Amino acid sequence: EGTDYLTITTGRMNQVVVDPVQRLARVGAGARWSDVVAHTAPYGLTGVVGSASAVGVVGYTLGGGLSPLGRAYGYAADHVRSLEVVTPDGNIRRVDAGAEPDLFWA
Ligand SMILES: Cc1cc2nc3c(=O)[nH]c(=O)nc-3n(C[C@H](O)[C@H](O)[C@H](O)COP(=O)(O)OP(=O)(O)OC[C@H]3O[C@@H](n4cnc5c(N)ncnc54)[C@H](O)[C@@H]3O)c2cc1C
Repeated sequence: EGTDYLTITTGRMNQVVVDPVQRLARVGAGARWSDVVAHTAPYGLTGVVGSASAVGVVGYTLGGGLSPLGRAYGYAADHVRSLEVVTPDGNIRRVDAGAEPDLFWA
């Protein structure tokens, strides 16, 4: 018996918007660290990028994200402010520590 599943390629969702004053970046689901660095470097900023800039920001961060800068700045996951998530029921949820704290933790 077959299982229904869906594979979604997020590679074109690689937008990065940087707020250099707040030191925040909004990163698309398919962005790689090289996309982030290209947008933050003009401001003299970076993220807590890992050892390879071709790695995806979301996958890296969902796994914790241990950067060469980690001794000074900690895990990338600990710097996430909020997430826009599509849950399996098809709903888009804006998740942060105040709204939906369990999902934010997960
Ligand atoms: C050369 C190299 C160097 C590395 N160096 C480091 C390092 O220095 N520090 C470190 O911590 N890790 C490092 N890693 C590990 C890296 O963080 C993991 O391999 C990470 O999972 C890569 O994420 P990805 O999105 O590129 O991979 P993927 O396999 O695409 O994604 C990883 C996981 O995240 C999920 N995922 C990805 N995008 C989304 C999304 N938009 N929404 C929901 N789920 C999503 C996928 O389903 C999958 O389970 C390195 C990996 C490589 C290959």
